[in-house]
Amino acid sequence: MILIIGGGIGGLTLALNLHKAGIPCQIFEAVETIKPLGVGINILPHAMKELSALELESDIAANAVETHEVCFYNRFGQHIYTERRGRFAGYKWPQYSIHRGTLHEILVNAVRERLGPKAFLTGHRFCQLEQDAEKVTAYFYTGTSKQILKPYRGTALVGCDGIKSAVRGLFYEKDDPLIYSGITMWRGVTRQQPFLSGASMIYAGWLKTGKVIAYPIAKLDNGMQIVNWLCEFYCSPRSPSGDWGQAGNVDDFLWSCEEMNFPWLNIPQMVKDAEYILEYPMVDKEPLTKWSFGRATLLGDAAHPMYPRGSNGAGQAIIDARILADSLSVESDEVVAFVKYEKERLPKTTAIVHANRTNPPDAILREVYERSGDKPFKSMKNIITKDELYELSDQYKKIAGFQVSMT
Ligand SMILES: Cc1cc2nc3c(=O)[nH]c(=O)nc-3n(C[C@H](O)[C@H](O)[C@H](O)COP(=O)(O)OP(=O)(O)OC[C@H]3O[C@@H](n4cnc5c(N)ncnc54)[C@H](O)[C@@H]3O)c2cc1C
Repeated sequence: MILIIGGGIGGLTLALNLHKAGIPCQIFEAVETIKPLGVGINILPHAMKELSALELESDIAANAVETHEVCFYNRFGQHIYTERRGRFAGYKWPQYSIHRGTLHEILVNAVRERLGPKAFLTGHRFCQLEQDAEKVTAYFYTGTSKQILKPYRGTALVGCDGIKSAVRGLFYEKDDPLIYSGITMWRGVTRQQPFLSGASMIYAGWLKTGKVIAYPIAKLDNGMQIVNWLCEFYCSPRSPSGDWGQAGNVDDFLWSCEEMNFPWLNIPQMVKDAEYILEYPMVDKEPLTKWSFGRATLLGDAAHPMYPRGSNGAGQAIIDARILADSLSVESDEVVAFVKYEKERLPKTTAIVHANRTNPPDAILREVYERSGDKPFKSMKNIITKDELYELSDQYKKIAGFQVSMT
């Protein structure tokens, strides 16, 4: 029995992969009640490949928008570059934009249906573990109090408990702080008319003056869409807590997009019309050199918290889950399986943590901002060539493992 700590995207995907491999497991989730939290999330082709193998593609397709293209603009609304995405770019697998809460619900339902309702225990906040040569014992509080619950024993334990992982905290008590990026992002969802192709993701501006990302995550019956957006810029830390649910206020960031009323999308109006706004000071942690300690290991944000840039937080957790399940299905000794998994995944995810800090997927915007001196340009050709733009975009895909050739 594998004990999975945390029923987020990574923990649930791990449970589905283990079940498929015939390995018993149980998920322990801290929150008492599952709610559709967060805003939009992108599932890139490399992650869709894994979710399709778990037969989840039709549920996702029915509740998401299949992304056609990503379009880059400067803050004056001048077009810089467009690239096709997912199947429209020749990948074997699609790219979907979806509400994180919807993706989470699809995974929770699949776990409950396939593994049975008892496989997913809510209201179990992990606090401690003990291990010997053969077993591991996990200890829990209830979700909201310090009332101690019955301990559980298993052959191994996987910490999938997110950016503030309690499992990781047991092995790295000191010198493992959240590191603020210097960038705070405000995110929200707004019901509105489709823009551009109706399945376009747009990036506009740059972090020094304000950058905006927007993309539809659901189609509504009346022809409207739910659009996920985020505004971000460099600013001193507001409260870099790693808390995904912190409420935000439009007055704190409206100035950064106030002039971005483009003919194809009125961005200031969109953010003012939001159903709710969340504030997230972007944080990560210094990559670790070791995730596995005997019968315990880490997965997803618990193992490699990264800035939420390039749609890789969820994607890398999903890939970790399949590779860890594969490793456990071929190795009878969990300790050996964890070491093999770590050897494969740790260097790759470390490279993405670094790329998200220095060379993110939207480095195109930085390049144009700097070369144009943040002024409107007469012709793009005088600023940057198509080949350079392609190369900048491709660099990130190689590091994150989602070039067209990967499929
Ligand atoms: C509420 C919430 C909203 C989010 N919103 C967004 C978003 O809008 N956009 C985005 O890009 N990313 C968002 N994320 C982060 C994103 O889900 C992750 O970066 C990514 O999916 C990696 O998944 P994960 O399973 O490693 O971590 P997560 O998806 O964060 O899951 C971790 C899970 O562990 C649980 N947990 C924490 N501590 C304990 C404990 N001690 N014992 C048991 N369980 C515990 C948490 O409640 C959570 O369910 C959000 C995360 C959460 C938890």
